[in-house]
Parts: sequence; C-alpha cells; structure tokens
Amino acid sequence: MATAKCKQCKNLISDKSIYIEQDVNKKDGTIDKKKVYFCCDECKMEYTKPKEVVETPYNKLTNYIQSLYLSQGYTKQQIPWKVITAQIKQIMTEDKTLNYAQLLYVIKYMVDILEMNLFDDSFNGTILNLVPYYINEAREFCIKCKDIRKLASEFDFEEKIKVVRVGNRSKKVEEMEF
Ligand SMILES: [Zn+2]
Repeated sequence: MATAKCKQCKNLISDKSIYIEQDVNKKDGTIDKKKVYFCCDECKMEYTKPKEVVETPYNKLTNYIQSLYLSQGYTKQQIPWKVITAQIKQIMTEDKTLNYAQLLYVIKYMVDILEMNLFDDSFNGTILNLVPYYINEAREFCIKCKDIRKLASEFDFEEKIKVVRVGNRSKKVEEMEF
C-alpha cells in the first residue's frame, strides 16, 4: 500500500483508513472530492475543528472603521480604503509612538466619548481627517480614566455610580497603554 502523510502531524501513514473528503474547486467551476488522510482520530479532530480567527490590532482597527462606514449606509465597496490606509500610515509616521490599538482608541474616543459625527460634510475626505488633532486629548482621557477606575475601586464614595459610568464607557479599550 502506498504511504501518505498525515495532514495534521505529517507522520507517514500506511493505513489509509482515517480520512476526510475535501471539496476541490476545479477551473471549470465543478467541484472535485479529494481524500485527506490522518494517522489517528485525534489528528483528524484537530485538523477539522474550527480554527480560531486571530484578530490583529490592525484588523481590529480596519474592522472598526468598516463598521462606522457600514452604519452610515455605505457598502463595503464604497469605503475609500486606499485613502484610509494611506492616512493610517501617515498618522503613524507623524506620531511614531502611536500603535494600531492606540489609533483605534483615538477614533473610539472621538465617536463614543465626544460623540462626534465623523461623516459631517465638513470633514470632506475620510473619517480619519481629524484624528491627528485628537491624539493628545484621547491619550489624556485614557490616563484619567485609569486614575478614576483606580479611585473607584479604592473608595466607596457616593459619587461612585457616576465615576463607574465614565469608567464603563472606556471599558472596551481598557487594556490600552499610552
Ligand atoms: Zn497524525
């Protein structure tokens, strides 16, 4: 019997009794079935279990920008990604201490905390136009929120409710380090 490699662990196998059938898209549009072999059931399970999608900070940033556009009625095709990605690059060149996660924080700060309408006509470009002007403000806000949270957990004042509410609004970006 011809040997094959286990698709998961790459060990050579001669007993081809454990396999799955995968669809292979052919050039003419039809679908072929291909057998993929495994050395054991564990390898088969490991290979077929749903893969966790790892979201990078850059993905999170672009996903958020996309969600803002979609919520304004734009289609995915209408989002000016060329300009947006060029702007992201430029913003980060001008402020070299800024990373993708922090840039995301700045935009969220403008949208969620300041409740700015980034799609106002006067923006005349993309929603990132004003971001450079709010980096320092967002940074200060982030630091202030951390102090407030610290106070809220240390003391049990009456104002705590108000304080905690402010803290909650920044919760999404809690792990931020400016
Ligand atoms: Zn294996």
